[in-house]
Amino acid sequence: MFELDRITKRYGSSLALDGIRLSIARGSTTALIGPSGCGKSTLLRILIGLIEPDVGHVRFDGQMLERTRIRAQRQRMGYVIQQGGLFPHLTARENVVLMARLLKWSSDRIKTRLSELMELTHFPRAGLERYPTELSGGQNQRVGLMRALMLDPEVLLLDEPLGALDPMIRYELQEELKQIFATLDKTVVLVTHDLAEAAFLGETIVLMRAGRIVQSGSLDEMIRAP
Ligand code: ADP
Ligand code: ADP
Repeated sequence: MFELDRITKRYGSSLALDGIRLSIARGSTTALIGPSGCGKSTLLRILIGLIEPDVGHVRFDGQMLERTRIRAQRQRMGYVIQQGGLFPHLTARENVVLMARLLKWSSDRIKTRLSELMELTHFPRAGLERYPTELSGGQNQRVGLMRALMLDPEVLLLDEPLGALDPMIRYELQEELKQIFATLDKTVVLVTHDLAEAAFLGETIVLMRAGRIVQSGSLDEMIRAP
């Protein structure tokens, strides 16, 4: 689904990504893991085309990720960030249906899709008319997930989706995310700094350090590696 070739990205004089090569298979679940500052978020933003690499390129489903078609390509990807990344002046419902409205979906279609998503993420109907500040951290993440999934994208990209949550809620949502990934059968790329979470959620684990990939494979392969 993604082919990354020699991706390099600098911020000023600091090298955030240094010659990343990575292949992400359709339908797989990949966890990017590594210490804070190693380039995980930058890599994820490059996958979704929010940032352009200085060197190298990304192929998305066989096509170069390019400015001229980025809007169409981005609609095939859902993106979730820490604390949901919701618009604070919109209710949960408005946040979730925003893109569908812009694309002029019928209200019936929006309603049906919203119901499916609430069932999938266990989001209560009563929460729909609330604003992000009126919802708990866990509920905000559910809204963020619903918004990312609204257009039924082929790819789901999550940047520390559970990073801001209390440990208990975190474990609960980890279980839910795992079920959701299994149900959806999408290509998932998840960023985390928590090894247990990467191991629990990722079929493939990509270990990064200082802008490079140090190791990648299944948990089994990682443990057995010399
Ligand atoms: P991670 O997600 O692994 O914590 P990031 O991709 O956020 O890592 O950051 C990689 C490196 O790039 C870090 O050294 C960080 O300080 C730097 N960096 C990230 N974003 C910016 C930015 N917008 N401007 C300058 N430096 C940045
Ligand atoms: P937090 O308030 O810490 O962010 P949540 O709001 O995600 O956590 O969850 C708080 C509690 O409410 C949890 O015990 C969770 O099981 C429960 N809960 C969350 N969503 C639902 C739901 N749709 N229906 C019933 N209970 C829920």
